[in-house]
Amino acid sequence: MSNAPPDADARRAARPVVCYPPDRLPAPDAGWMARLRAGLTPRETLTVPPRTARCLRVPAGHVLRISCVQGPQVGDLNLWNADDLSERFYSGKTRALYGTHLTTGHRLWSSFPHLRPMATIIHDSLAWYGFDADGAGVHDVIGTRCDPYTDHLLSGGQYHHCCHSNLVRALAAATGLPPDRAEPHVHDVFNVFMCTGFTRDMHQYFTKASPVRPGDHIDLFAEIDLLAALSACPWGDCASNSTETACCHPLDMTVLAPDPDALTGWQPPAPNGYDRSHGA
Ligand SMILES: [Zn+2]
Repeated sequence: MSNAPPDADARRAARPVVCYPPDRLPAPDAGWMARLRAGLTPRETLTVPPRTARCLRVPAGHVLRISCVQGPQVGDLNLWNADDLSERFYSGKTRALYGTHLTTGHRLWSSFPHLRPMATIIHDSLAWYGFDADGAGVHDVIGTRCDPYTDHLLSGGQYHHCCHSNLVRALAAATGLPPDRAEPHVHDVFNVFMCTGFTRDMHQYFTKASPVRPGDHIDLFAEIDLLAALSACPWGDCASNSTETACCHPLDMTVLAPDPDALTGWQPPAPNGYDRSHGA
């Protein structure tokens, strides 16, 4: 670039500093996660039909399993404290803490001022995928969700059966709130089974066909009582950016109860300990 300063190369050569060294985060014990998984009993399964969303309560100490059942399909997940919708999943901070994609051992953190683990991923059958040659990984906390506002901005249309609107309708049905009061609670999602990255040249967000297959699942241990909403995205497996031609499939949400012995010594995490005086 012609306007580059003489020391441009030196400025660019500054050393990257990881903002949140992962070794400072309290991590779940691998042996505990394995013992917990070994003693799970299915209690309830809810099928999310293609291009819709459903809500499910998950008691603290139970596990939410999200399963691919018929064909490749991605899901957009929202999580709330079941007793306080103002405490919800904080995609941006979770991304800052772990990186762009989540897998076994990572936690889904809640919004300020709570900032505590809402769920811990105790198993991910797609953990083998890692990062591919395009720099893509599975289960991202980058994307926000497909929504009618961006669609209107780009096409001028009125698109109702996107993940955002699916989640609004599902939350409204679960809580009795009218849609316009449910909508502000819908938030940036955890993109389950979605395979995404940034292009090498322009760092643009991209998707590619999800590697998920029937039988694959991800298990989330509920650290607090949760209300979970999952949308089976109208983009299907996200192999293209056309919702009209996408082949869409259902997803299953299953609540599994733990063996009580596996929870010995475990307690739901307390809300964050910051005193909230903000130095005033
Ligand atoms: Zn979507």
